[in-house]
Amino acid sequence: MKGLLIIIASPSGGGKGSVIKHIIGGSTKYSVSATTRKPRPGEIDGKHYFFVTREEFEKMIAAGEMLEYAEYLGNYYGTPKSPVEKWLDEGDDIILEIEIQGAAQVKEKMPECVSIFLLPPSMEILEKRLTGRGTETPEVIKGRIEVAKVEIEEARRFDYIVVNDRLEDAVTDVKAIITAEKLKYRRNEEIIERVLKDA
Ligand code: 5GP
Repeated sequence: MKGLLIIIASPSGGGKGSVIKHIIGGSTKYSVSATTRKPRPGEIDGKHYFFVTREEFEKMIAAGEMLEYAEYLGNYYGTPKSPVEKWLDEGDDIILEIEIQGAAQVKEKMPECVSIFLLPPSMEILEKRLTGRGTETPEVIKGRIEVAKVEIEEARRFDYIVVNDRLEDAVTDVKAIITAEKLKYRRNEEIIERVLKDA
């Protein structure tokens, strides 16, 4: 059976990194994005992102190598298409950690995907998380908060909303969504056929 494509979006600081860390493993793979953003301390090329130049990114777009891409606060971010297609064909589930413009493109191209929006419990908590990270300047944080408001408006377009208050609860919720999606009738038609054939 083809794997499940799972989009997880949240505003910057919404905690998707921590949630995703607990979801990936085994047949649930993480799609490493390409970006023109500079690496933050501790970020590893090829693990957290493929860090590329604008020129390299634009070449990938022109060559049709991106499943989706977007410009976010002055940098390109995008999902390389071929690993996603390969893993889905092999039956692996894939997590795309992307922002809302990219999520809309994926929904259009692959409507069978599942989209989850991780919502911070409040704007105040979001701001605290962004400041606490200590990796961005106050102007960048201000920019991210403004973008976050627009992004949260878009949460209505997602299939599921998970409030990321306690990490363990958010992880449990996301796992439950993945399990339920995999048990949906349309993904299990073949099994029904097989059981009926044996009858
Ligand atoms: P950050 O700079 O904090 O790592 O990411 C900024 C935003 O870009 C986040 O909302 C993140 O989910 C999003 N993002 C990361 N990779 C991709 C991608 O491949 N495509 C799109 N559209 N957004 C991405």
